[in-house]
Amino acid sequence: MDKKPSRQQPVAEAVEEAVRAVKEILRRQAELGAAGIGREELERARRRVAPRAGGRPNPAEALREIRRELGDCRRCRLFEGRTNIVFGDGDPYARLMFVGEGPGADEDAQGVPFVGRAGQKLNDIIEKGMKLKRSEVYIANVVKSRPPGNRDPQPDEIAACLPFLDRQIEVIHPEAIVALGTIAAQTLTGLDAPIGKLRGKWHEYKGIPLMPTYHPSYLVRLQGSRQEEAGRRAVWEDIQQVMEKLGLPVGSKT
Ligand code: URA
Repeated sequence: MDKKPSRQQPVAEAVEEAVRAVKEILRRQAELGAAGIGREELERARRRVAPRAGGRPNPAEALREIRRELGDCRRCRLFEGRTNIVFGDGDPYARLMFVGEGPGADEDAQGVPFVGRAGQKLNDIIEKGMKLKRSEVYIANVVKSRPPGNRDPQPDEIAACLPFLDRQIEVIHPEAIVALGTIAAQTLTGLDAPIGKLRGKWHEYKGIPLMPTYHPSYLVRLQGSRQEEAGRRAVWEDIQQVMEKLGLPVGSKT
């Protein structure tokens, strides 16, 4: 006989999840020894056990469901040239989310966002700059399939893909979002202004604080040029604002 889902189920799931979170804290504490766990770690653990407002679903399961619905997506022409869909990467409970433009060649080959040269820059921002682990944040793109020759995604391609990013943001519900580059910044702010005008100021995406900054591939392109230092400084200033918003210690970058 089929089992009907009981009303107790959500409570049981919440309890199970709380137990999992406590076990994880203990495991991490054992790993870290007497130094204990850091503020960011505690904050993420709190997010795991905190009751989800409005009965929001378990983010990890909700992300799997969104990925299932995306399927072998053919909602726009980008499916024709892609190898892998690049859905997203990181902690479903992350306090911070980065949103890029769309996969490049390396991401298309591996199915993971920001793994090429721009990805290395982004890793440096997260790890050397913010002193977080990449696995502690969540990284996604506006479009999930690689535009041919790394051209900008077109408005109809963005429109076809945006509902999926929108739902990723909704279920992760980060405390802040960083929009990387013009396409992500314009898509999430709804503004037509160039990135140089959008960056460095707080905006909002559906009530979530949103900080646009230059795309890491712009920093890669500036390497060795006279603008390199100014570009790096601008990104670091934007990221420091994000760190302040999250209550992370803002020290020196290296
Ligand atoms: N550039 C992006 O915008 N996203 C990626 O995933 C990689 C490069």
